[in-house]
Amino acid sequence: MSKMTNRRRFMKQSALATVALAATTRAWGLEKERQLMSVTGPVTADQVGSMLIHEHLLVDFIGADKTGYHRWDRAKVVEKVLPYLNEVKALGCQTLADCTPAFLGRDPWLLKELSEKSGINILTNTGFYGAVNNKFIPSFAFEETAKQLANRWTKEYKKGIEGSGVKPGFIKISVGSGPLSDFHRRLITAAGITHQKTGLVIASHTGPALPAMEQLDVLEGMGVDANAFIWVHAQNEKDFNQFRIAGKTGAWVSFEGIRAGNVADTVARVMYMKEQGLLHRTLVSHDAGWYDPDKEEGGEFAPFTTIYTQLIPMLKNEGLTDKEVKVIFETNPVEAFAIR
Ligand SMILES: [Zn+2]
Repeated sequence: MSKMTNRRRFMKQSALATVALAATTRAWGLEKERQLMSVTGPVTADQVGSMLIHEHLLVDFIGADKTGYHRWDRAKVVEKVLPYLNEVKALGCQTLADCTPAFLGRDPWLLKELSEKSGINILTNTGFYGAVNNKFIPSFAFEETAKQLANRWTKEYKKGIEGSGVKPGFIKISVGSGPLSDFHRRLITAAGITHQKTGLVIASHTGPALPAMEQLDVLEGMGVDANAFIWVHAQNEKDFNQFRIAGKTGAWVSFEGIRAGNVADTVARVMYMKEQGLLHRTLVSHDAGWYDPDKEEGGEFAPFTTIYTQLIPMLKNEGLTDKEVKVIFETNPVEAFAIR
């Protein structure tokens, strides 16, 4: 990231803080009119409740050239996964975003069935996952322009995914952890175009700050607001200052990777965001789950409960109020995922 970029970003901060405040006020005022798109159709803001914004119900790691619906038996997946959804619903979770992209195990029919059986609103996504050296990118995608990719993703939103009738509730892409490759630059550009056409937020599996800032620069160049971008896996950045820099642009800073043994790490990041006055840009989820078709009975499943049983009590211990907890798990998810 260049010095020029940093300075430009810094100079925009005070203006953007005012815009962010206005946007928040507007959202609170019109909350009932705002909608998210779930696998069973639109969900109004007041139906969202406590939301886990980044989880996985099934992930197939075999690669784009070999994956497909033949790889799992939906009935068996439902049998395994449904109890975990019921468990977290009993703890208060009402909405969950499934962040598994196409060619990595996204299955709209499965998600719809799990949503109907659990009563949890589930969001799925459109977009392609470029990390892990493009292993999960279908070969045709390399031949397409950003506009062609965006047309493909926009069509999923307008017509539904593969005849399932299920529409994506967000754009999910992923890029490598270093400087953006040409192809990953194309992915974020396609995501930006898709956002402009659909109003869906962009969640980009990113990790360190460098590619996050590069993606924000691409979006800024296209005239896309930073608040349409979720910096996914920001916890992989060690320098907390980067969270502040990104948050002040208006982008969402999203911390995941929460498991029973590491909750204090997330508490430290959230408390930093509070000190910086950036709780209203902060998202938190486990990135837990999932059924793996290559493992016996789907393998070991990380439950979706640690946030409710450990993280929230620890945040309150550190002085976060009920209202601030609500900002992270209810207000911000609506703000981020509501269709613009
Ligand atoms: Zn994930």
